[in-house]
Amino acid sequence: MSSILIKNGVVINASGRARQDVLIEGDKIAAVGQSLTAPGAEMLDAEGCFVLPGFIDTHTHFGLEVGGAITADNFASGSKAAALGGTTCVLDFATQAPGGSLQQALQNWHAQAQGASCNYGFHMAIAHWDEDVRQELPTMVEQGVTSFKMYMVYDGLKVDDGQIYSALQETAKLDTLVGVHCENWEVLLRRIREVQLSGITGPEGHPLSRPNAVEAEAVARLMRIAELAQAPCYVVHLSTAEGLEEALRARARGQKVFLETCPQYLLLTDARYGDADGAKFVMSPPLRKAVDTEALWQALQSGQINTIGTDHCSFTMAQKNKFVQDFSKIPNGAAGVQHRGQLLYTYGVCEGRITLEQMVALLSANAAKLFGMPDYGEIAPGKAADVVIWDPAYEGCITDTNTAHNCDNSPYAGFIVKGRAKDVLLHGELAVQGGSFKQAGLGKYIHRSRCDFD
Ligand SMILES: [Zn+2]
Repeated sequence: MSSILIKNGVVINASGRARQDVLIEGDKIAAVGQSLTAPGAEMLDAEGCFVLPGFIDTHTHFGLEVGGAITADNFASGSKAAALGGTTCVLDFATQAPGGSLQQALQNWHAQAQGASCNYGFHMAIAHWDEDVRQELPTMVEQGVTSFKMYMVYDGLKVDDGQIYSALQETAKLDTLVGVHCENWEVLLRRIREVQLSGITGPEGHPLSRPNAVEAEAVARLMRIAELAQAPCYVVHLSTAEGLEEALRARARGQKVFLETCPQYLLLTDARYGDADGAKFVMSPPLRKAVDTEALWQALQSGQINTIGTDHCSFTMAQKNKFVQDFSKIPNGAAGVQHRGQLLYTYGVCEGRITLEQMVALLSANAAKLFGMPDYGEIAPGKAADVVIWDPAYEGCITDTNTAHNCDNSPYAGFIVKGRAKDVLLHGELAVQGGSFKQAGLGKYIHRSRCDFD
């Protein structure tokens, strides 16, 4: 059994920090303490660095087809970009095909993820709800899929309120969770037509068609449906101050509500739709205003938001600009899986908005707990050796082309970033060393247990 000794670093967990060494034996953390020795172990010097539990991205779409366009990143490229950024595990959305079973979708995603360069688990996106799907839920749990997703929007994916209600009832019985994409589909379709009829057809029409209330109404509706179903629920990619308000109101009533936001809703605003490359920023929900980003930062600070996922769903500029004259047809989504850690460190920790401990909670620990991964999210004896050695001294700038993902653009191009994942261990093996890829293909499927809502 190979062993690695990480010396001289400062271990950061969600619960606190200490200057400690970390001994890894095989795929587990064997010991955490001061002045550890291990004859024969490979040494990694973490002087001046933080030692963090590997990051978990709660929201990626690798190899997804959206309206005839296939994302620029599949598992091979996306998982590599993830690992380079310190993300040791992605939770990707296996998506039920029209008329297909959940089992078929799961097999399809397992096949696609073979050979990935970071660990992975799956949420299962339920595109239609019926008795057959209900009967498949326990077999999903047996296979390590303990969270689901439902969309209030998109042809071929949208489910109705009654289906959400039934699914919430059934998933709650199994201690599993449904994440919901909250927007009002019927209203936004009409608004798209209104905006187009007013003569606005380019990317700047996108946020006009889906203003804050389109999300907030849907969040409020989900909250009441979950209340009626007596079930916990999870809002994916929360983007507005008003949506946050609705979710907090449900929490105040005593409901179990979990919230995810994304770096783009913390760092970018809808002013970008007027840029020459405005199509790049077409994603749903759309980018918002500074008042929203500020509300979301405050919610991170106060612990009201649980997780940060990227919603990495990358398309090339050619794929996007093909429809630059009709915003309603531009493939929705943007790249981000590589930069979540750097962005949160630079604009959260270095700017004094959150602590390093909060960063670890948001990037790793909270997701591990909520999504049934008790062996992850913490640097402690017995835990899985998914570890990031974070070098805070690094400084760089994101450009459209200096990224590891297989897409020719980044919504964060021009952003200065501080810190980077210097070394990344995947179950005890060095995937990234000195900021460069050392070994691809080390990713393994993470069989998740039931969700922990407490
Ligand atoms: Zn998504």
